[in-house]
Amino acid sequence: MSKSQTCTRCVMDTSDPNIVFNDEGICHHCLNYSKLRTETPKYNYDQFDTLVARMKKRGKKYPYDCVVGISGGTDSSYLLHQLKNAGLRVLAMHYDSGWNTEEAVHNVKVLIQKMELDLYTFKVDWEEFKAIQMAYLRSGVVDLDVPTDHALHGALYKSAVDKKAPFILTGHNMSTESIMPDTWVHDKLDSKNLMDIYKKHGDVVKLKTFPLQTLKTKFLNYNIRKIEMIFMLNYMPYNKAEAAAILQKEYSWEPVRVKHGESIWTRFYQCYILPTRFGIDKRKAHFSNLILSGVVTRDEALQELSKPIYLDDLENDKKVIFNRFGISEAEFNKLMNVTKRTQADFKTEKALKETYAKIRKMLPGLLKVSTRH
Ligand SMILES: [Zn+2]
Repeated sequence: MSKSQTCTRCVMDTSDPNIVFNDEGICHHCLNYSKLRTETPKYNYDQFDTLVARMKKRGKKYPYDCVVGISGGTDSSYLLHQLKNAGLRVLAMHYDSGWNTEEAVHNVKVLIQKMELDLYTFKVDWEEFKAIQMAYLRSGVVDLDVPTDHALHGALYKSAVDKKAPFILTGHNMSTESIMPDTWVHDKLDSKNLMDIYKKHGDVVKLKTFPLQTLKTKFLNYNIRKIEMIFMLNYMPYNKAEAAAILQKEYSWEPVRVKHGESIWTRFYQCYILPTRFGIDKRKAHFSNLILSGVVTRDEALQELSKPIYLDDLENDKKVIFNRFGISEAEFNKLMNVTKRTQADFKTEKALKETYAKIRKMLPGLLKVSTRH
């Protein structure tokens, strides 16, 4: 077994099995980040106004300029605040997975009320969603949040189609979400993978409301309907602590303590399942981002990491989760010991996507099947 090593610049370590260090002990995530920062001139704050003007112009033909996904967390709440101030006609979209925390529900409510926005709530049938989540638990894969993230993406596009908005804006951003090891997460939008895991490990519940993002759906949304997704927080100065202070002052918004703590399931997954079963502490990736974007120092991050990961009532969360899944603690513990499998152990869209990317390189006019830009 190789010995553990931590990057000298960020706090990523050998809990990412693919991490590579240079002679100075700096990891490949740090080097990739610097490269991304210098090679991506399009993330320029000056472009915010240009983008807003473009959205207003194209939006004229539609009831709304844009859909904004709102979870109640800092990123999306602050984005909503900035867009409203910029004068955009916003439709707020809240994805209700059935796992939202009280803080999240409260935050969405106060923001919508005070900003006087229209709200589109998307809810997947609980029996369906439970069946998919249980399939993921039984399958042994690491990324148990694929069903949530896949459905969120689907809900954003569904609301843009149903309510007619040409742009989707999300709170994803480079300053806090750029580093994430491939071994810790899956391709969230691979419908073939999701369905294969579901078929092999799921119940017989037929999926009727789950917004599955098939290649055909994605092709239609990206190329025919031409709905554009923009990671708008990248185009403005963004400091999470300052953003939270503004939100608290203006909207009686409440800070969410754990990153992605808007959902009981996600905090249990990130703060209990990942560290205990997979030896993964996602805070390392989050803090590394904050170090590289200059928000916290490495010492401050190490200090934070030395604190316990679970800030909420773990036993209570367990009770709520096992009860909703309809399983006992013993059954859950069994699931925590099933053979580990990777995304590649199931069917994926990867080969198809790679072939298409090669063809597209030769024929640049060809349509895209990915939102990444
Ligand atoms: Zn590093």
